[in-house]
Amino acid sequence: MQKIIVMLAASLALCSCGGKAVSADRADAETQAALPAVPFSADSAYSYIEKQVAFGPRVPNTEAHRRAGDWLVAELSRHGADVSEQRAVVKAFDGTPLSMRNIFGRFNTDAEERTLFVAHWDCRPWADEDADPERAGRPVDGANDGASGVGVLLEIARAAGANPSPKGIDILFVDAEDWGSESDEDSWALGARHFVANMPEGYTPSEVIVLDMVGGTGAVFPREYFSQQSDPALLDRIYTAAAAAGYADRFPNRLGGAVTDDHRQFIDAGIPAVDIIDYRDGFHPAWHTGADDMTAIDRSTLDAVGQTMLNLIYGTK
Ligand SMILES: [Zn+2]
Repeated sequence: MQKIIVMLAASLALCSCGGKAVSADRADAETQAALPAVPFSADSAYSYIEKQVAFGPRVPNTEAHRRAGDWLVAELSRHGADVSEQRAVVKAFDGTPLSMRNIFGRFNTDAEERTLFVAHWDCRPWADEDADPERAGRPVDGANDGASGVGVLLEIARAAGANPSPKGIDILFVDAEDWGSESDEDSWALGARHFVANMPEGYTPSEVIVLDMVGGTGAVFPREYFSQQSDPALLDRIYTAAAAAGYADRFPNRLGGAVTDDHRQFIDAGIPAVDIIDYRDGFHPAWHTGADDMTAIDRSTLDAVGQTMLNLIYGTK
């Protein structure tokens, strides 16, 4: 993903959404965690991240990518999801044909109201933010950038399989998010673009939640700019769920950055979507560097995001 600057627009948006922010501000005051209806296991999510990293960088067209993709399909199936795949060859900005796979797992397929959770499972082929030129030419491990979102969602899949919810829960692992160019906004999120253009027949999610870089040490998740434009009410529910999970400090109820990420493909197609992404003055310091390995991951961040999402789905006791 890519950060973009919309300073003026962002400050205007802050003013215009002041009324909405008040109710969630009140939730911020409740720092005491309520007992969750379904507890999240950060240890389990952590091991799902370790497993992905152990395959090696999941860069499209590589053996590590193929093996990791097969494993993701097997894991979703094991948790009881109805699993399907989209396979296609898409062209990257540099002309490389990428053999991509979107992996889609669905729970309670009869439910009309459906929440779609999305994370990208591919890795960036270059650590181009790394100051060391030798490391900059190598692919990233993507422990945080990619594997963390997938790890949290695999744990949510496990919970969804064990705890039927009245709403439909869908989990989509999109490919080819991170083979992008800073000079071309349309070169990112190719897997999500393909999904939106080739949605399964009759399928329209009620709302979309993208999780990206949700495992980093010291992570915070303010309201991402395009998400705020698209679905402020869904963000309000998420920030209330975070406060109920005792994580109001990790979900500060203020506007964060503006990010080019998978959510924008859904928004452009008229489907409300939000991006839960770590954003301080910028991304995690390991972003697109050789340091995005397991040392960048903190279980308490995984718990903050995972428990917030399970509270959103199942509520508290
Ligand atoms: Zn990235």
